[in-house]
Amino acid sequence: MAIVADRASDLFIDGELIPGGAGSFPTVNPATEEVLGTAANADAADTDRAIDAARRAFDSGEWASDTELRVRCIRQLQAALREHVEELRDITMAEVGAPRMLTAAAQLEGPIADLSFAADTAEAYQWRTDLGVAAPMGIKTRRTLVREAVGVVAAITPWNFPHQINLAKIGPALAAGNTVVLKPAPDTPWCAAILGELAAQTDLPPGVLNIVTSDDHATGAMLSSDPRVDMVSFTGSTATGRAVMAAGAATVKKVFLELGGKSAFLVLDDADLPAACAMAAFTASMHAGQGCAITTRLVVPRSRYDEAVAAAAATMSGIKPGDPTKPGTICGPVISARQRDRVQSYLDLAIAEGGTFACGGGRPADRDRGFFVEPTVIAGLDNTARVAREEIFGPVLTVIAHDGDDDAVRIANDSPYGLSGTVFSADPERAQAIANRLRVGTVNVNGGVWYSADVPFGGYKQSGVGREMGVAGFEEYLELKAIATAV
Ligand code: NAD
Repeated sequence: MAIVADRASDLFIDGELIPGGAGSFPTVNPATEEVLGTAANADAADTDRAIDAARRAFDSGEWASDTELRVRCIRQLQAALREHVEELRDITMAEVGAPRMLTAAAQLEGPIADLSFAADTAEAYQWRTDLGVAAPMGIKTRRTLVREAVGVVAAITPWNFPHQINLAKIGPALAAGNTVVLKPAPDTPWCAAILGELAAQTDLPPGVLNIVTSDDHATGAMLSSDPRVDMVSFTGSTATGRAVMAAGAATVKKVFLELGGKSAFLVLDDADLPAACAMAAFTASMHAGQGCAITTRLVVPRSRYDEAVAAAAATMSGIKPGDPTKPGTICGPVISARQRDRVQSYLDLAIAEGGTFACGGGRPADRDRGFFVEPTVIAGLDNTARVAREEIFGPVLTVIAHDGDDDAVRIANDSPYGLSGTVFSADPERAQAIANRLRVGTVNVNGGVWYSADVPFGGYKQSGVGREMGVAGFEEYLELKAIATAV
């Protein structure tokens, strides 16, 4: 595997590493704005061949029925990823702008470790269940439930946590017996292309895993509408998720969606307010706020609003956006100039809506290169402001006042999204009661961590459909068949 500079990655189709029919496109270091190298650019014919290969591998191969082979291949892929983890770390910091410290967790090493869960689940899974003999309508019948793979899965992924999202789809999809066409975001092609380079060295049969990098979003649209694709597993923005769902409707595909969020961090009136606000500010700055489940609305008691704003601003103004390769950096760049400009337009909107900045508000003065944004605390707005309702995907925290527990729950749930949330209280029972009322897929109570291979992750409302990770995540990639045999 080549080092970071001057790499030129290939497509991985039908077991072969090949150049792209549309040539190549550059991948850029968001911390320096330098071109790192190139990725193969798939054209429609490449994508067509990838779908065809996945279809053939599913329909004619042993893949779907040979659990032992699948488990072996996933463990081989995991071993190869571990062997190359330092190169992967360098690529992840360079291509994603991911801070080094996050690569020890969800940005790289966590999802590699989590492949074990997919393999272990497939190994231990009860593929057939005997419901016993009954006599429905007077006919004596043995009923058996059989779980089997959905078929060809198109995995379409974003750039913010590429390994986590690519592997949390590929791992369970393959373990369940599906074949896959992976289409990563145009901003992070290498993080996906490497999987092809490593998969080529395993026993994975040709066509079982295909990877098409492309700078054209039409590749994703093609996968979403192709009749040979049985299921689309999509992570990205809610707007694109809607397009994927609509495109899949024509052939009634199974559509699995992990979308955006605008999660709330609720501080109840008995909580350690400065500590809770510091944690909220720290979390909102991590990876420059580019996490779908980050709590970007800090909801605090009205009587202590100014104190909360000051505590959050004290933490956030101490976090300097910087070089992601440095061990102490927690806030690197955002992914692109386009994303930086989008974040800036929301910061301008906050002022236009009557808000103020308690810290930050623009580009850091000491960074003339790279797509950096200052960690920013927005104050003085309520939950009706657009910056409190729309996903910004930058290091931006909006502080909102609440008038007691019921009002805090109302504000948290007053969102088109329902991905995640946090509750802080000195009384664990009170916090638990609030957690029970939140219309979201994951809740952190007093600093608890829900991110784990065995914990399903996903959203209510417009944050998505279905769950990734955990046994529930594995079962998203399965069909259920009932066989009734007259006895
Ligand atoms: P995006 O929606 O722009 O793109 C995601 C992927 O979809 C990319 O691979 C893109 O090429 C592809 N795509 C674009 N148009 C398409 C179309 N019409 N049909 C099919 N595919 C298409 O998202 P992004 O900007 O790359 O990522 C940021 C977004 O992802 C944020 O909204 C964030 O909240 C969300 N996200 C959600 C989760 C989650 O698990 N809920 C995790 C990470 C990111």
